[in-house]
Amino acid sequence: MGRVCRETQDWVETQVEQPIETWENQQENRCRNEPCNWWTLCLNVLVCWLVWVLVKVVRIVLVTIGKWVVRVICEVVNFILDALAFVVNVILSIPIIGGIIRTILNWVTEVIWRIVSLPDFLLSLAGVRLRKKMYVGVIIPPNMATTPAITDADVQRQIAAVVSLYDSTCNINVIFTEICRTTAAAPDSSLVVGCDAGGFFSDWWIGGSWFEYTSATCKFTDGFRRVIGYGAEIIVFVIDDVTPAGTNGCSFASTDNYVLIEAKPADQPFVAAHEIGHACLLPHDGSATNLMFPTTPSSGPVLTNLQIATVRGSKHCVYI
Ligand SMILES: [Zn+2]
Repeated sequence: MGRVCRETQDWVETQVEQPIETWENQQENRCRNEPCNWWTLCLNVLVCWLVWVLVKVVRIVLVTIGKWVVRVICEVVNFILDALAFVVNVILSIPIIGGIIRTILNWVTEVIWRIVSLPDFLLSLAGVRLRKKMYVGVIIPPNMATTPAITDADVQRQIAAVVSLYDSTCNINVIFTEICRTTAAAPDSSLVVGCDAGGFFSDWWIGGSWFEYTSATCKFTDGFRRVIGYGAEIIVFVIDDVTPAGTNGCSFASTDNYVLIEAKPADQPFVAAHEIGHACLLPHDGSATNLMFPTTPSSGPVLTNLQIATVRGSKHCVYI
């Protein structure tokens, strides 16, 4: 189901429907207790009930039924967009040519949404940071060699660090979608990835193809956002090894909608948060307490004002 459809319905229910229903209940009580004024032939009570009935009917017709009609239309449109995007995403998973198009597309959408969010970037720099949101999901290949196998609890620890960090520093609501344990076996080049120029170019080959194809199937819903860039979910792939030695995670910045972390997150809880920072265009920082220090701090990492504004100005970080 499309997230904007679900979120719109939730908003209507909590902000419109429930307040009206509360008012209806109060009005009902008022009418029950309304004393009958004999000199108006009890019309005051009748008017009270008439208002109650009128509001109830309008609410049921416009809000309760209306929200479902809108929801159905929204879901159908979302599904059509996702189906079209699925085709595009599968094409983007073709080695070489798909990889090159994917790289160009992701950088173009990055530039476009950076320009669009420039006012928000400046406001963020000035300290005005209204609540934004960012979607994060996890995909785990079925054929990893790492033992013991990564558990959902391991993943949740990384995600909890992501959620708390971006909430407290950037006022971003990180919405965790799900852990997808795909059945599509990953090629060796997706399980061990070089986080360097070689890795960047090998991303256009089989390894990158698997990441893109698995994203298309595992993350079908709202997949259209990865095509247009706006509000694209950041997908954290858990893999066996990131090279060179000592590297625990990898991100090729705006080139991809995914980041990589090794399957040994317990000792470095902020690896996913650090890689997501790269995906939002943050470079490394020289301060040992900073999230973007090459060796991620093990507790309470910080972000500078400029870093916060940069993350908030990312295409992954949106209001709707
Ligand atoms: Zn890094």
